[in-house]
Amino acid sequence: MTARYTTHLIIGAGSMGLAAADYLSKSGATSVRVLDAHRPPHDQGAHHGETRLIRLAYGEGSGYVALALRALERWQQLERETGEALLLPCGVVNLGSEASPFIQQVEASARQFDLSLERLGGDAASKRWPGWRLDASLVGAFEPRAGALRVERIVDCWRRRVEADPNITLTTDAQVVELSPLAAGGFEAVCADGRRFGAERVLVAAGQHLAPLLSTLDISLPLTRVRKTFAWFEADARYHHERFPGFSLIDSELGDYYGFPDIDGAGFKIGRHDAGQPLEPGEPMAPFGGHTEDLAELRQIIERYLPGVGALRHGAVCQYIRTPDEDFLIDEPLPGLIVAGGFSGHGFKFASALGEALAAWLEHGEIAPELAAFGRARFAASGR
Ligand SMILES: Cc1cc2nc3c(=O)[nH]c(=O)nc-3n(C[C@H](O)[C@H](O)[C@H](O)COP(=O)(O)OP(=O)(O)OC[C@H]3O[C@@H](n4cnc5c(N)ncnc54)[C@H](O)[C@@H]3O)c2cc1C
Repeated sequence: MTARYTTHLIIGAGSMGLAAADYLSKSGATSVRVLDAHRPPHDQGAHHGETRLIRLAYGEGSGYVALALRALERWQQLERETGEALLLPCGVVNLGSEASPFIQQVEASARQFDLSLERLGGDAASKRWPGWRLDASLVGAFEPRAGALRVERIVDCWRRRVEADPNITLTTDAQVVELSPLAAGGFEAVCADGRRFGAERVLVAAGQHLAPLLSTLDISLPLTRVRKTFAWFEADARYHHERFPGFSLIDSELGDYYGFPDIDGAGFKIGRHDAGQPLEPGEPMAPFGGHTEDLAELRQIIERYLPGVGALRHGAVCQYIRTPDEDFLIDEPLPGLIVAGGFSGHGFKFASALGEALAAWLEHGEIAPELAAFGRARFAASGR
């Protein structure tokens, strides 16, 4: 089959790929093709389930804060440009013991960047938000500027904007199975149905298939895939988004959880951040309820802390693509070939800023300083 050539090629039109394509569109880039195995937004990757938290006082490390602040600006800009409600500033409370490294890092990030953060004891937090039943063993670090992003609506917005640009071609139902270098420079992507697309510069943001695709170029990436579940429950009026914030919760016995107030009548949503079932790329995922712990682990948190949450409405499965240290993997392993993956279950909030940085790197060949920490070299240095 004859290959089709463009200057830029993005493989994976999900969170990061479409964010980058959208930025290229706004910056007036010409000759861009974007490929996806499915029709985004869809539930085959990591961008479904209605909502994602955005937090700024970052518990995963203060190195993320500048990126989060830029991302927030870009989400607000996207809202202004589209007139759509994409970000719900319901606040986020981070809950855990005083000694939890995550809580300590949230507070350190806030101090370092002068972010507003309110510290409450467990009893005070329960008074402030009667949907919580917390005791004195927990503290809450409440961030009023944080909130919930409407993930599928955002991906849909980007797709519509990209499709409206005559300089960008989005090709869906195009599953790339192989990458190869072109003799004249650049790379070619070969699809499962034999179609071939070549470009001078390529961004691969293909979620679970990033590592397998790079292995066709003999490049090994330390990524693992994990099945994750989350679910929506009936909840009383205490959980309405005007009265209850988003949350992260670290329970030293039961694990790490996150959740959302009832937004648009969808119900109270909760998921578990740690644990999950390892999967090979491409391996089918058991639906929600396929493992006994799917519901049981959410129920135990509800029973311990959330007195007004009731019956299960429905659950869903999703996937994390993890790096060994759970920091992102963004690099240029060969000149002209940029990879972005391993977002380890906390990447979406940054997509608006990462899309900007990745697009600029693709177009101008220069890495933004804020991406430098995410390179593969750190794994060689740490022996992982
Ligand atoms: C349950 C859950 C909860 C989360 N909660 C949060 C949160 O609260 N806050 C937060 O910031 N982040 C959160 N995340 C993480 C965030 O959603 C992800 O980090 C982010 O969506 C990853 O973006 P991505 O572009 O790598 O993947 P995706 O958005 O999945 O995009 C990858 C795209 O590549 C395409 N693709 C894959 N293989 C191929 C191929 N071979 N050829 C062509 N196309 C291909 C896929 O179809 C897909 O569209 C959560 C994730 C999950 C699963």
